[in-house]
Amino acid sequence: MFNLVLFGPPGSGKGTQSENIISQFGLLHISTGDILRAEVAAETPLGVEAKKNMDNGELVPDEVVIGMISSKLDAHPEAKGFIFDGFPRTVAQAEALDKLLEFKNNPINLVISLEVKEEELIKRLVQRGIDSGRSDDTEEVITNRIKQYHEKTAPVADFYKEHGKLVSVEGIGSIGDIFEAISAKIEHSLA
Ligand code: ADP
Repeated sequence: MFNLVLFGPPGSGKGTQSENIISQFGLLHISTGDILRAEVAAETPLGVEAKKNMDNGELVPDEVVIGMISSKLDAHPEAKGFIFDGFPRTVAQAEALDKLLEFKNNPINLVISLEVKEEELIKRLVQRGIDSGRSDDTEEVITNRIKQYHEKTAPVADFYKEHGKLVSVEGIGSIGDIFEAISAKIEHSLA
């Protein structure tokens, strides 16, 4: 089993690169953002609550997303491994994930941090808002998402660094070149 965390700020390309990684390495994709958006679209009680946080650029409470991850892991005992995209976003989530994986005797193998400077992130997210109409891709909400990232999510990188699991990949360039750099890190970790 191979478990990968794809880490990086909003707009760093985690979703795009996840698609490539899945097809190349056969991992199962778990994106908390995608799961939450599906809950919002289905107007479930969880989705109705989460939407309020998401539309303000705030994080959804830890216990909500940890519960979602736990059921996803349980639903796929056959998986060769998982790629976590947009999770963990707080140190508490990272600790909870370690505990969940401990039960399965399959720890996180590698954390890849996609490095993109802030100016480029804002440009990409504003463009995504125009292209996709995603309600949290407006300039005001984007500013708060990036602020939340610095305050709550950036410490997750230090957490994994201390555990010797963090590697960085430059997230600016062509999608293909970035994917090659990511693949090299995964191959190295698998070897
Ligand atoms: P991006 O990384 O592009 O900002 P995501 O699709 O990963 O977007 O997440 C969109 C929103 O969903 C976040 O701003 C947050 O409100 C919520 N969310 C997603 N994942 C988490 C998480 N692990 N913990 C808390 N909130 C989350």
